[in-house]
Amino acid sequence: MKTKIYMDNAATTPVREEVLAEVLPYFREHYGNASSVYAIAKESKKAMEQARKQVADAIGAKPEEIYFTAGGSESDNMALRGVAEAMSSKGNHIITTKIEHHAILHTCQYLEKHGFEVTYLDVDEMGKVRMEELEKAIRPETILISVMFANNEIGTIQPIAQIGALAKEKGIYFHTDAVQAVGHVPVNVEEMQIDLLSMSGHKLGAPKGIGAIYIRKGVKISPLIFGGAQEKKMRAGTENIPGIVGLGKAAELAVAELEQTRERLTALRDKLIHGILEKIPYSRLNGDPVDRLPGNCNISFAYIEGESMLLLLDALGIAASSGSACTSGSLDPSHVLLAIGLPHEEAHGSLRLTLDRENTEEEVDFVLEKLPAIVQRLREMSPLYEDMMKK
Ligand SMILES: *Cc1c(COP(=O)(O)O)cnc(C)c1O
Repeated sequence: MKTKIYMDNAATTPVREEVLAEVLPYFREHYGNASSVYAIAKESKKAMEQARKQVADAIGAKPEEIYFTAGGSESDNMALRGVAEAMSSKGNHIITTKIEHHAILHTCQYLEKHGFEVTYLDVDEMGKVRMEELEKAIRPETILISVMFANNEIGTIQPIAQIGALAKEKGIYFHTDAVQAVGHVPVNVEEMQIDLLSMSGHKLGAPKGIGAIYIRKGVKISPLIFGGAQEKKMRAGTENIPGIVGLGKAAELAVAELEQTRERLTALRDKLIHGILEKIPYSRLNGDPVDRLPGNCNISFAYIEGESMLLLLDALGIAASSGSACTSGSLDPSHVLLAIGLPHEEAHGSLRLTLDRENTEEEVDFVLEKLPAIVQRLREMSPLYEDMMKK
């Protein structure tokens, strides 16, 4: 039997039917350039401003604080480089964490080559930032704190409101990469005192290549992309109207259905986690069991290699992901799993299954039925496992 089970929703999600229906007319009917004066251009402009309001409403912001970008990576780059440049006369120090997405980490490395200093905070064994360490890292020249809302690998949700309160008290801008959070868990930039926030369409049922950045009114930031006067001169380039319309619709739907989806997915996720831990010896959950994204299951299996697990799962029609070295395209396993203290071998043997709206209980049952034999088969080929069993 060749099933098709997609459990890699943290990597990307399919475009929702309702979103697709909303987007399609903007390719052939309402294709006007939003900056022009004639009627079809006005259609585009109107649709864009409606989407801006939908996105703003989804995170408790004002429409004029939302700027559309080409995705989460661009928003992350813009937040960091834009604030660094605009605030360089005030200071040159940025605080972030060791478990950020590469869109943050690699931008920080770039900034370090250009005169900025970056503190990469450790996290605890659940993947959480320690507030005392964050507070101690603050210097007079600190201009920005960037801590992700929820981690894309292990699902851990950070104490965002506490970080926001601390940043506010110290007069430092607070940016959060909320790509995995928006539409999945409640996000409110006012209540959580967030100054800048990154989001991406394709992680919540909108197309790939569209995202947004929230910039609180009054925050000093320079643009990343120069050209036309679009997005109040903060982001040049003819607007991606179909993408923007899709992001607006997806954000609106996700937030309207948030509680219901969160409850269902949390139950499915916990069934998956507990089922795996019960059925498979020498396995451990990575990330926080409670402060965790509703769809995230990340488990390490001792004595095996994640990549081989993915291939055997794929042969059964199950799409998943791993923190193993091969997947990341480098020799080292996931920086996130290393940061929560996993030894290299266990980081290599990790499996990430991420659920979303389209996953069913039957699919979870199918994975629970098949996974133990896959792990067993791989362990039987492992010399390390053999040695351990002899002892
Ligand atoms: C996917 C992701 C990004 C990158 O978003 P793109 O739209 O793919 O550029 C950034 N941060 C996190 C946490 C992500 O999961």
